[in-house]
Amino acid sequence: MVAPHSPRTAAQLRRELARIDRQSYPAYKTIAGAYDFGTFTLVIDHVQGDPFAAPSRMRILRDSATMGLPAWATSTRARRIATADWIARRMAGALAGHRPPSRRGSGTSGLIAIDTPGQEILERTAVVVTSERVEVRFVAGLPAAGRRILGEEAIHLLCEEIPALVEQVLTVGRVELVGRGPREGPRWSLQTHLDTVEDQQVLREALAERGLIAFVADGAILPRESGVSDRPLRGPQVVPFRAPDALAVTLETPHGGPIRGLGIPRGVTLIVGGGYHGKSTLLRALSLGVYDHIPGDGRERVVTDPTAVKVRAEDGRRVEQVDISPFITNLPFRADTRRFSTEAASGSTSQAANIMEALELGARVLLIDEDTSATNFMIRDRRMQALISKEQEPITPFIDRVRSLARDRGVSTVLVVGGAGDYLDVADTVIQMDRYQARDVTARAREVARAFPTGRLEETDGPFPPVTPRLPLPDSLDPHRPGGRRAKIRARETETIQFGPESIDLSAVEQIVHPSQTRAIALLLARLAVRFCDGQTPLRDGLEQAFAELEAHGLDLLAAPGPPLGDLAMPRLLEVGAALNRLRTLRVRLPGDAGAH
Ligand code: ADP
Ligand code: MG
Repeated sequence: MVAPHSPRTAAQLRRELARIDRQSYPAYKTIAGAYDFGTFTLVIDHVQGDPFAAPSRMRILRDSATMGLPAWATSTRARRIATADWIARRMAGALAGHRPPSRRGSGTSGLIAIDTPGQEILERTAVVVTSERVEVRFVAGLPAAGRRILGEEAIHLLCEEIPALVEQVLTVGRVELVGRGPREGPRWSLQTHLDTVEDQQVLREALAERGLIAFVADGAILPRESGVSDRPLRGPQVVPFRAPDALAVTLETPHGGPIRGLGIPRGVTLIVGGGYHGKSTLLRALSLGVYDHIPGDGRERVVTDPTAVKVRAEDGRRVEQVDISPFITNLPFRADTRRFSTEAASGSTSQAANIMEALELGARVLLIDEDTSATNFMIRDRRMQALISKEQEPITPFIDRVRSLARDRGVSTVLVVGGAGDYLDVADTVIQMDRYQARDVTARAREVARAFPTGRLEETDGPFPPVTPRLPLPDSLDPHRPGGRRAKIRARETETIQFGPESIDLSAVEQIVHPSQTRAIALLLARLAVRFCDGQTPLRDGLEQAFAELEAHGLDLLAAPGPPLGDLAMPRLLEVGAALNRLRTLRVRLPGDAGAH
């Protein structure tokens, strides 16, 4: 948040824009710099090279006091993040209704845009808030006809529309209009936003001491509008969540008081039920309960252990020296599965690697949906055991590991199972989704398990071993092409990172919720390679060091020494590690190897 010193005045900006009117586009370069508008400062960080290039990058700097931000809105780090999120949403909302009057211009002429948050509240660089100052980063398309500068349009954009936006969006101090109740207006909305976040964080922190791994409050709305919209489903067909009595707990929140809901205990939990009865929807809500949600999302009181990882099969992915031996041994023609590498994993080996990597990165909860799992990884029933002897089958199915995972490693699992009833034998808790209503069927499941023994032979009773830390080799993370050309690092949606010549496929990493997280992951990987990876540091330690630095200095660190970027959002350590694990050039050492300590 560096403001160039001695800003010019808004009047000087007007004069300059009038002067370069009708000149060719590169003359815009002269307006880079800071301008004092009295109640705020406009900083033009980067001027686009032509009207068809990415729009120009700018910032608005305004004193928190001028904005009327109450002291409570910035008094803790969590509140500053929530306040910044609230401002970004207001700005995005105001811009959604914004129609550039200069639409007749070419390229991006007249556009104003900000990185728009989704349903989750994340630390992001679009808006940065301190107790002294609010900084809003956005892009604007400098107007042109063809490649000729439209000076008048530019004056309108920068000297009229932007100040009007600032007054509209960056003001909370105004007295509420007469006739409106107190439960309206920006101050109330800001307070609701912050209270909602604080309650979620308190609920999430309460999980561990209550022996829970997740909580779903009564009244929560879990289904989403559609496969492409993360907004809540609305209408009379929506069934609000209600916890069955046997699994209900009540947690205290600072703003919402005592809240009743489903407490999912540690251990092995099954979500069972007929097809289309809401199982996957519940699991999806749990997987996103690691994030805070906005008021009105429906999942703002659904919280999950922050280390929970959604795991699935992902055939075709690369794997680098992962110890998958708890699940897979004696592969045909294969060396040691204690250091399993492949350019293209199968369904079962990919799922095993995904689990072991998640454990290595510190996951204490695994979330698994039968729909997206490899069947032979999940289960081998009595008949298959009879037909194919244990000696002929490399896989120890998850069903024979899920209990030792909880017992020996303290890792809980929530599993959606519609078909594999053998799992009733290994469950601590069984929740049935029945027409979108949750029921506790744990006792009934025990009876069924007794009445219909499967005759399955347990394929291992050995302990679940600790995970061997891997030490990434720095050269293998270098995004530069041979020959030292500058590396292109960019993200496409939430799914792909271009890392120099390598493309990282993140489509199976389901807990990345915003493209801005993907962009931050891409930059973090590059930083990790340079600073926290020396061939001696375990992957997780390197990531922890990188995150400690981010927490101390903020996400802007990732753009330094360049001007700040407005389109980064905080990922979890687990997703950064997941991206690294999918980088096809990654090479690691194990602690006993030559060259490692
Ligand atoms: P399952 O995994 O049990 O087959 P899903 O979770 O995929 O079922 O849900 C099936 C459909 O029902 C989805 O379209 C989902 O949006 C909808 N749905 C899920 N939960 C609810 C609910 N509580 N109220 C209304 N519709 C729901
Ligand atoms: Mg399903």
